[in-house]
Amino acid sequence: MYVEKLCILKAITDELDNTCYAIICDWNANLCDIDNSLFAGHMINVCSENNLKISSCAHLPERSYTYVSERWNTTSWLDHAIASNDFHSSISKINIMYDVSDEDHIPFKVYINNDNIPNLTSSINNGRAKIRWNNMTDNDISKYSMLTERCLHDIHIPIEAVGCRDTQCTNVNHIVSINIMYNDIVSSLIQAGEESSQNKKRSYTNKPGWAEYVDSLYDTSREVRHMWVNAGKPRQGPIYDLHVKSKARFKYALRYISRIMKMHYAKRH
Ligand SMILES: [Zn+2]
Repeated sequence: MYVEKLCILKAITDELDNTCYAIICDWNANLCDIDNSLFAGHMINVCSENNLKISSCAHLPERSYTYVSERWNTTSWLDHAIASNDFHSSISKINIMYDVSDEDHIPFKVYINNDNIPNLTSSINNGRAKIRWNNMTDNDISKYSMLTERCLHDIHIPIEAVGCRDTQCTNVNHIVSINIMYNDIVSSLIQAGEESSQNKKRSYTNKPGWAEYVDSLYDTSREVRHMWVNAGKPRQGPIYDLHVKSKARFKYALRYISRIMKMHYAKRH
């Protein structure tokens, strides 16, 4: 159940249209006692898999705690700020307010430096050509390498702008030519990715165990997605909740299969 909840969080953050976010709450993951906290292991795994930072850990001493159990006379560190790289680098400090409470959960303050928050640009990064590297054959990879080389070769490099050493540069020509170069690189890579991984869609449906665990979830998740798109991709409300949940369940089942496969594989070899 805990892992499923983490998958739901992951599905929600995947839908965000910016890279600066944090999830600050009671994670029930005791970092004072990682070896004996089952949830701490899960939380740490999810963070490392998704390139998230445990900001509370980075900003606070090892012996911190946010929960006091008077009954057992113990303390544990259950509440955390988990942040994307962008949010993490804008945090200047975190303080646990030990003087506010001496029982149950203790609140903590996160100080954010506005200057370090990246600006949200209007350019759209739709990531439509996410490449499934695990499905690529050697042939596909060399094709990708050839295509990227050809596409990148054609990109115009604005020598003057690239050579500019002013980190606060306001020269409009420099800014425009760097943006053009950046967009050219991104679209080249998207194009190369699309051309070299054509007909690869849904190939993960061939994984063993698929029919047993995931088939119906996959269909439901597609139907719900369809519904969500038709409703104009709402960011909240019942259709949004349904969409996020069905996607999370589907992803969770997929990971379950991968894990089972790895276990089988490990046993046989
Ligand atoms: Zn410049």
